[in-house]
Amino acid sequence: MSLPSRASYRDIPLYSPSKVKCGVDLSDNTNLFGMPPAAERILRETVASQVSRYPVGYAPELKQAVARYTGVDPSRVTTGCGSDDVIDSTLRAFLEPGEVIAFPDPTFVMMSYFAKVNGLRSAAVPLKADLDIDVDGLLATGAKLLYVCSPNNPTGTVASRAALERLIDNAPGIVLLDEAYAEFARESHLDLASRPNVLVTRTLSKAFGLAGLRVGYAVGNPTLINEVEKARGPYKVTGLSERIATAVLSEDVPWMKARAEEALAIRARLVDELGKLGLKTLPSEANFVMVPLTGAPAVAERMRQRDVNVRAFQGLKGIGDALRIGCAPWNQIEAALGALRETLR
Ligand code: PMP
Repeated sequence: MSLPSRASYRDIPLYSPSKVKCGVDLSDNTNLFGMPPAAERILRETVASQVSRYPVGYAPELKQAVARYTGVDPSRVTTGCGSDDVIDSTLRAFLEPGEVIAFPDPTFVMMSYFAKVNGLRSAAVPLKADLDIDVDGLLATGAKLLYVCSPNNPTGTVASRAALERLIDNAPGIVLLDEAYAEFARESHLDLASRPNVLVTRTLSKAFGLAGLRVGYAVGNPTLINEVEKARGPYKVTGLSERIATAVLSEDVPWMKARAEEALAIRARLVDELGKLGLKTLPSEANFVMVPLTGAPAVAERMRQRDVNVRAFQGLKGIGDALRIGCAPWNQIEAALGALRETLR
């Protein structure tokens, strides 16, 4: 018997993030500086009866905590199982299969995957030579949904305020601004979520150190938020995740800010040390740096043999091969630099 399958899925490979077991793993841009104290407390305090019932639909307490943290009304917030889920739901909420989503190239690799599984056509628009977004190129696609990531993964570079504003002013539809790394950047553009056609997504996976909990959110016009919630359903955030994320957003913002500062100081040292190896880095405003390097995949493989995992990219538009190295406590960065030195020798 041939089991049913969706024809358009046949050529889509399963997205499998690299999870190579290495003593030092700098491949996923998470916060490697520990766990927020409120998270530890909630984990200790949680009792069985709190997990035997469904959480309240659409995570209202978490919405309030996000609203306080971001300074908006709770009606302007939705949450999800990581910002992955919020982004995926946004695509489903606003585009019919066959329609176009546009995004810069390179950007968050999951975008082309989310486009495929939602039956969308992708328009990838190269970043400009100065690594800012190409507003005219994005607008020329005519896409009803324009995705921009700033600071951008994997480059770490940011979109300029002027470019973002011009994009939003002229977009025929919605602009989805992914600020997963906002807490590391000099400037946030969350205020742009007050524009009627903008959704800004954020996550607790990066600066807040809660990637394993899977909590992300979007801020924007309540009408748009309502459509995203239709596409997403009520129970995407687990009850435990909601409790922890709510406590962390309420109590641990100073903890998060101190860890983010640490990551930025380490980024500066890392860039210096890479410079001594003759390696240039792209100007990063995130907790990772991108290092253009011919043969990066082979270099990363040799680093893995030395128990260090960094992310390699091949043939990126306008950049070529590159390594992306996440910031971590200095002993881990030293291990990575040691492995890189041996590899390049
Ligand atoms: N956006 C960007 C730019 C990312 O780099 C990531 C994670 N790598 C995400 C969104 C998704 O993060 P999460 O689902 O953990 O919130």
